[in-house]
Amino acid sequence: MNSNTVLFALLFSLCLSCGELVPNPDDNVENITRDISEEKEKPKAEFAIIIHGGAGTILKKNMTSEKEAAYKAKLEEAIRVGYEILKNGGSSLDAVQKTINIMEDSPLFNAGKGAVFTNAETNELDASIMDGKTLNAGASAGTTTVRNPINLARIIMDNSPHVMMAGAGAETYAKEQGLTIVDPSYFYTENRFNSLKRIIEKEKTEQDQNNKQAFYDPEIKDSKFGTVGCAALDKNGNLAAGTSTGGMTNKRYGRVGDAPIIGAGTYANNNSCAVSSTGWGEYFIRAMVAHDISALMQYKGLSLKEAAQEVIQKKVPELGGDGGIVAVDKNGNMVAEFNTSGMYRATMNDKGELEIGIYKENED
Ligand code: ASP
Repeated sequence: MNSNTVLFALLFSLCLSCGELVPNPDDNVENITRDISEEKEKPKAEFAIIIHGGAGTILKKNMTSEKEAAYKAKLEEAIRVGYEILKNGGSSLDAVQKTINIMEDSPLFNAGKGAVFTNAETNELDASIMDGKTLNAGASAGTTTVRNPINLARIIMDNSPHVMMAGAGAETYAKEQGLTIVDPSYFYTENRFNSLKRIIEKEKTEQDQNNKQAFYDPEIKDSKFGTVGCAALDKNGNLAAGTSTGGMTNKRYGRVGDAPIIGAGTYANNNSCAVSSTGWGEYFIRAMVAHDISALMQYKGLSLKEAAQEVIQKKVPELGGDGGIVAVDKNGNMVAEFNTSGMYRATMNDKGELEIGIYKENED
């Protein structure tokens, strides 16, 4: 072999190994190419915000027009707070926190006032928030006296060296940091209490047969309506997400769901997206829902919609769970994906266009 032949052989094998002549069938080349071209076609949004007020068996036939109007009004009030912050150049973290505060203060949602009851007739609240720029995060679990748990999550992220605090310790920290503390009775609502009673009755009859803990309210067919969450992109290109909940009715033994688990209930990363989850927490923890969506985008090149569908329509139901997410990507694309009959949700873009949904798209 002369030196020219050797050089040619070397160059040829180099080309083959870098995959330019023979693409590796394992690479999702088609998807990656499509996503990149889609992203190029779409002008990047200046900012964007999306919220949810919980996913579950939400059927139009079970809804009164007054109730529907009340939910829509509260969703609009909440998202407009975040929208104004973003429009005025505020941070996505502030937008997420202040938007969630409105829903926490409303008895309509299973977060803050209106949280569901535990088996012991108490309210134990969970929350988390994440900053997509720094990957810093804060979370609190099982608090009973902090009026706005998302504020505690934010303070834990900003002012403490920790990511997560739970129970009495978290409450002491909240007090020390000057957050609003309330008597546990503040969280009482008749609706949620009656729901617990119905579930406990149902449990008594079912327990003999399956010895299983019941979570489903036989009257409203669901016991975990109304967790709240928000994901936002600000004018500086920073993503943030947050989630706040009372968890699941009739929970016992200090049960903690996905909402305060970073990567399950909440995740944000400026390189991919910001996600807030709602649904059956045990499954959302096992499927690492929020982080999985981000990872599918970051490492596999999927679009936000494709990643959300993969996790919510395949991975979670295959495990046996249900629920949904809201998310926004680094270009301001927003997605609300759920495998339940409904999810309270709203979006606002940088043009001030508002969309509110409750049921599946064609039923709204
Ligand atoms: N994910 C929450 C939990 O399991 C409940 C919900 O989102 O409805 O605690």
